[in-house]
Amino acid sequence: RKGWLDKLKAGLRKTGSSIATVFTGTQIDDALYEELEAALLMADTGVKATEHLLADLKKRVKESKTTDPAAVKGLLADAIADLLAPLQKPLVIGEHKPTVIMVAGVNGAGKTTSIGKLTRHLANEGASVLLAAADTFRAAAREQLAVWADRNTVEIVTQEGGDPAAVSFDAVSAGKARGRDVVLVDTAGRLPTQLHLMEELRKIKRVVQKADGTAPHEVLLVIDGNTGQNALTQVKAFDEALQLTGLVITKLDGTAKGGVVCAIARERPVPIYFIGVGEKLEDLETFNAREFAQALLN
Ligand code: GDP
Repeated sequence: RKGWLDKLKAGLRKTGSSIATVFTGTQIDDALYEELEAALLMADTGVKATEHLLADLKKRVKESKTTDPAAVKGLLADAIADLLAPLQKPLVIGEHKPTVIMVAGVNGAGKTTSIGKLTRHLANEGASVLLAAADTFRAAAREQLAVWADRNTVEIVTQEGGDPAAVSFDAVSAGKARGRDVVLVDTAGRLPTQLHLMEELRKIKRVVQKADGTAPHEVLLVIDGNTGQNALTQVKAFDEALQLTGLVITKLDGTAKGGVVCAIARERPVPIYFIGVGEKLEDLETFNAREFAQALLN
């Protein structure tokens, strides 16, 4: 646990240091709040979450009657933790067999890597996993997923040049027939033709539901935490198209834009199941609101 926190803190330090330096002065005055506003915006917290946090913080400062800027930092950590608390939710499997998890995300977000890490996480919990390579357009995507399947020694359902929805249907059927606990469906992050990506993903969702009436049980979006406000735009677009149940936020081990997590909480509060803190199999952690708030301000 501690190793992970250190990694996250190191990653967020670029964000954190600029926020933390706001509290090194001797007075709590308008200048402090103005500096804090700028620092939060710089960290990609967004206007709405920044306004909310400042108003909440001023209330807390007033109630506490403190005159010490250092104490204000602690109060800000409380405000951020409270804002993020609704996003802290575990991914639950076992209610359905298989639990079908559809995974979306634009190319480069870290989707394939996250699926590999998630497979390891689920296997560690004793779940049997089957992977579906529904990004049939890119040979490289299939091959990359096959590498992660190998690393985890799990089965993969794929079909060269096949129809993404058909591959997903086959994978869910195979998962049911073989009694697997989880089917993870990797989808395309970009299409080579003019075909609309969201339309393609909606079709996969519909067809998966045909294979198993209650599926998909989870629709996850993988976003790159390093893209700041852009990540929030993606959450909104994919949520509108697919009704997301959860997020995986990657690359939080090296970003100055960690504040975007606050923006998500304020503007599109989809639960954060996991955060990515590195490129290795074990670099996936469950999201903890208080720890994250503290890392942001460290
Ligand atoms: P995809 O196109 O969305 O499937 O993205 P990939 O899974 O191929 O990842 C794109 C790049 O981001 C690769 O170089 C990964 O190693 C890297 N990556 C993915 N997740 C993380 C993370 O949490 N931290 C860091 N530092 N790199 C990551």
